[in-house]
Order: sequence, then C-alpha cells, then structure tokens
Amino acid sequence: MIISMRPHATREEIDHVCERIREFGYKVHSIEGEERVVIGVVGIGDVTPALESLEATPGVERAMAISAPYKFVSKEFKPERTAVKVNGVAIGGDEFITIAGPCSVESEKQIMETAEGVAAAGAKMLRGGAFKPRTSPYDFQGLELEGLKLLRKAKEATGLAILTEVMSDRDVEMVAEYADCMQVGARNMQNFALLKSLGGCGRPVMLKRGMSATLKELLMSAEYVVAHGNPNVILCERGIRTFETYTRNTYDIAAVPSLNELTHLPVMLDPSHAAGKRSLIPALCRAGVAVGADGLVLEVHPCPEKAFSDGAQSLKLTDFAQLMRDLQPYLRLWKEARTPLAHAVA
Ligand code: PEP
Ligand code: MN
Repeated sequence: MIISMRPHATREEIDHVCERIREFGYKVHSIEGEERVVIGVVGIGDVTPALESLEATPGVERAMAISAPYKFVSKEFKPERTAVKVNGVAIGGDEFITIAGPCSVESEKQIMETAEGVAAAGAKMLRGGAFKPRTSPYDFQGLELEGLKLLRKAKEATGLAILTEVMSDRDVEMVAEYADCMQVGARNMQNFALLKSLGGCGRPVMLKRGMSATLKELLMSAEYVVAHGNPNVILCERGIRTFETYTRNTYDIAAVPSLNELTHLPVMLDPSHAAGKRSLIPALCRAGVAVGADGLVLEVHPCPEKAFSDGAQSLKLTDFAQLMRDLQPYLRLWKEARTPLAHAVA
C-alpha cells in the first residue's frame, strides 16, 4: 500500500497514520518526501478495510494498493526515476555512466594499468571480479581477498569507485569493505539468501538479470534487496539465453524501455556478456545509449589474449578509448532526451 499524505501534513498526523497502520497489523516500510510525505506499507491479504479507514484519517490524501507483485521497486510506488549514488557517482541521474574493467582481477599490474587507462578515457567506475562464478570448477576462480585489496589500490590511484561481485552471503561483509557497489551476477540473481543479506550491507547493489530470468523475476529479486532494507539497487541487462548461437547471449535491448515502464530503478546494459565478441561491442553500446540506458558496464583488458576469463569479449584499452570518443555525439542526444527542460532553456 501507499499512503500519500496531504502537502504539509503535520508530524502528529504522520505519526498517527503510522500508528493506525500498525494497528491493522501492517508494517511501515518507508516514509519518503518532505513537502508531501508518502508512506510505504507492507500489507498482506485483503487490504481494502485498511485502505478505506486510512483514507478517512486526518492528513491523508490518498491510500492506494500497489497491484504489481514487486511493490517498492514499482513505478506505481514511485513514478519518478531513482538515481543511486555510488561514491559520489549518480547512476540513473542526468549523466550517462560508463563502468569499465577486466572480467577478473588478475594481478596488480593488470588492474592498475586497466584502471588508469579506463579513467583517462572517461570511465566513472572500475569493474573487476575478485570472486568469479565460473561454469567449470577447473577454471580460474578469482583472487578473492587479494583481488579485493588490488581493487582498493586501483581506487586509491585513480579515484574510480569499485564495482565487484559477491557470490555468497558469507562474503557480503568482506566484499562490502572494499566495494563501492556490490555486483550480483546473473547466476546468483535468485540466490535469495544473498539478496536478503545485501539488504543490510550498506552499499548499493547492481543486480544482473539471470540468463533465463523474466523481467518480472528480475524485479522480484530487486524487491528482495529493497524489502530487506536497501533501496539502492541498480538493474543490469546482460543478455539472455535464446536459440541463437552466434552471440554468447541475446542482447535484450527491449529490457531497457520495458523496465523503465515498470520500475523507477536505474537500468544499465552490459553488452560484453551479451555479445561475447569484441567486434560487436561498439554497435551494441550505441544502441544502449539510444534506447535510454543509464549507462554501460564493459569488459576491458590491457591484453585480452592473455585474459584469465572473457578475453574474447574484452576491449583493449585503445579500443575502449576510441569507443568513448565515438559515443560522444550519441551521448549528447542522450543528454538532451534526459534533460528536456534544461535543453529548452539553454
Ligand atoms: C561478470 O560481470 O564478469 C559476470 C560474470 O557477469 P554475469 O554474471 O552477467 O555472467
Ligand atoms: Mn566476465
């Protein structure tokens, strides 16, 4: 349920409404807004009697049920976009954000060289896995804590915020010490124990869409994190599995405008894992900008042929710098579309 208070409702009126909500046996989840307060309520079962009573309570303008199964991440709950702040970088605001870095953190030299290269080319954050979800148990599994420490060094050298994956609820605390944003990989999108513990991790979460997950399932997973106390969730489309084999996955570009209709959360695109092929990345990035994504997550490696994982889809540093230059005209259009008023005034 959402209880929308009248503009400038008093503190006493708001407290009274919260008290009435609790009397109905429901939980006040969030209280948002300053001039106009909106109270988010978790209510199970038939909420009609509560809605009717609350609508008649002083200070209340409207009491509504949210029909979507994902409540707090839905557009019904919050019609305006949410910008998630990651160490000073706003994802979902009026700047297009590029996050770049290797699939895996491999060595100090590799991560430092990548971090410096992508920062110089305009990336706003550094990605890199210290814990790697690999299909084969015999493949490189990541440097784990040592990898996290190398990411910290790269952050100190470049100022880039760190996006890195957490694979298990057991590692949440350790990863949160080093990460500015916690990545949940496609294979873990429905690891509910992990999602629940990320509710209390104190860091924003980037939730990647499972390779065979529907948008509804993705949003239900996001709802887990938010319902457990963390509203700072960023969604990421990284390609889904279809019958096509030429690309590693199928880049579901329609996910971006679809999610924008369904949720207020930011939506990023990861063309690297979608395509699996370096040659396709620039075109898929242009498409991502055109379709209104909030940013891109790209794999970049100083020497892709020697990468421990995902070399075929990783851009060289020079390719990445070229891509960032080539995207500029598209990014200008993105900005105009994102801030129509500012453009009209200018
Ligand atoms: C990654 O980002 O390197 C990764 C493993 O991605 P995904 O979970 O989307 O496969
Ligand atoms: Mn990868």
